[in-house]
Amino acid sequence: MQTVQLISEDQPITVGKILCIGQNYAAHAKEMNSTAPTLPVFFMKPTTALIPDGGSIEIPSISRDVHHEVEMTVLIGKGGKNIPQETALQHVAGYGIGLDMTMRDVQSEAKKKGQPWTLAKGFDTSAPISSFVPASSIPDPQGMSIELLVNGDRRQQSSTANMIHPVDRLVAYISQFFTLERGDIIFTGTPEGVAQVKSGDVLLATLSQGDGMKAVSLAVRVK
Ligand code: MG
Repeated sequence: MQTVQLISEDQPITVGKILCIGQNYAAHAKEMNSTAPTLPVFFMKPTTALIPDGGSIEIPSISRDVHHEVEMTVLIGKGGKNIPQETALQHVAGYGIGLDMTMRDVQSEAKKKGQPWTLAKGFDTSAPISSFVPASSIPDPQGMSIELLVNGDRRQQSSTANMIHPVDRLVAYISQFFTLERGDIIFTGTPEGVAQVKSGDVLLATLSQGDGMKAVSLAVRVK
C-alpha cells in the first residue's frame, strides 16, 4: 500500500490509480516528432512505481536511455463518474510535482511495434512524487510554474498555462471512462526539454505559484 501526504492533513492518503496524460504540451509533442492529440491520451502506472521525496530512481538493466519528464500532479479528493468540467476542480484535493520517468528506448520500440507502454512507463521507481499542496491554496492550477533542475542545471521549465487540456477538462474526460476515487493521482503531462538521466544525477523538481513563490518541491537521485 502506497500513501501520499496532503500538506494540510495529518493522516496520509492511500493512493488508488495513477493516470498519466501523454503529450499535453505542444512543444513536447513537437520534440517527440508528433502532433498533439485532439483528445487527451492517457496511460497508467502501478502504485508500486511511486517513490517519495528523497528517494532513489533505479535504472532497469534493459534500458540505456531513461528520460525525465517533470509534470504537475493532481490528487483526487472526491471521487466521481461523468464529472462535469464546470465542477471538476471541486474533486481535486491538492497539487504537487512529479517525474514521469520513461525508458525512452523501450517506449520507442513499443511504439514501433504497436505494443503498450506499460513496461517503458510503469517500472519500479518510475514515479517520484512530492507531497500535495491543498487545492484551496492554489487559486488557478493553470497559472503554475513547473521546473526541473538536474545537478543544478535547468533542464525543463514551463507554465501550466501551456497545457493543451487543462486540469478540469482532464478530470471530466477521464471520469467518463474511469471512475475516479479519493487517492487517485493524475500526472498532467510534461513540457519540452525531456532528456536522459545518468547514475549519480540529482533531480530537483519544483511547482511554484504564478508570483514565483514555491509551492512544493521534490528531490530524488539516480542510483
Ligand atoms: Mg509524461
